[in-house]
Amino acid sequence: DKGLEKTKENFFSKLGKAVAGKSTVDIDVLDELEEVLVSSDVGIETTVKIIDRVEARVAKDKYLGTSELNVILREEIAGLLSENNTEDIEDFELPKDKKPYVILVVGVNGVGKTTTIGKLSHQFKQKGYKVILGAADTFRAAAVDQIKLWGERVGVPVVEHGMNTDPASVAFDAVKKGVDEQADLVIIDTAGRLHTKVNLMNELSKIKKVIQKFIPDAPHEVMLVLDGSTGQNAFIQAQEFTKATDVTSLAITKLDGTAKGGVVIGISDQFKIPVKYIGVGEKMEELQVFNKMAFVESFFT
Ligand code: GDP
Repeated sequence: DKGLEKTKENFFSKLGKAVAGKSTVDIDVLDELEEVLVSSDVGIETTVKIIDRVEARVAKDKYLGTSELNVILREEIAGLLSENNTEDIEDFELPKDKKPYVILVVGVNGVGKTTTIGKLSHQFKQKGYKVILGAADTFRAAAVDQIKLWGERVGVPVVEHGMNTDPASVAFDAVKKGVDEQADLVIIDTAGRLHTKVNLMNELSKIKKVIQKFIPDAPHEVMLVLDGSTGQNAFIQAQEFTKATDVTSLAITKLDGTAKGGVVIGISDQFKIPVKYIGVGEKMEELQVFNKMAFVESFFT
């Protein structure tokens, strides 16, 4: 799978070294395996969970050949991902009964929020959907300009009031335009401030309230964007944002630039939130719908 090459190489070669010269999975192999998982940024808790499960199978069968380890690891990792990614979304589709579908996008600066919004707009537009963007990150210098640029590139309108304006008022106008113009999708960018949790919470709940004036069950999705190359920081951000608001989906970016794609497994397992998209490059097309089986396979083949 393009984009996950580095993770695959890292995982595969380390796993190979872990079992080199061994025919059975013994305590040393398990220790090495633990190293491999941790160094791929799976995270301690999830690593321990995976090791425990492999250990239990070794104990049950009394003997486990290292040649079978790949198969078992695949099953265990796929199992963990399945618990939180119940359905594999095949493609960029929107629910037919929610129009416009409203996505509120959250995440700290620099993780690839704007890029992901741009890519999403492009892919949904390609599907024939009518998309509107709301530039409600009015805080970060250049954020409004950046999303406007994406809007121009992709050919979707951007609702904006400029810098330092009220984000809720931008969200209000974006959703109003979405309803008035019978758009299929409204994506709202928000400021990536985490400096005080109360601020973030208040700001997001204010945005939600104004959206609900038009569409009572919106936003239909609160998507947290995380940079997959930042390891433990991504875990910490997930923790903070899930405390501040109900995050319903994840987009994990920059997996092309890291050998540590295991972060997807750990975050998915620990936060019980489905990973919906993965970013595998800077270009418009380089956003994939997350497919758990394809993802697991990309580690091993
Ligand atoms: P924001 O501050 O969260 O809105 O972040 P941006 O969207 O401006 O992205 C920050 C940088 O990360 C930019 O240089 C993007 O091109 C880059 N970026 C975003 N997503 C990806 C990705 O999936 N892969 C790579 N390699 N770069 C990405």
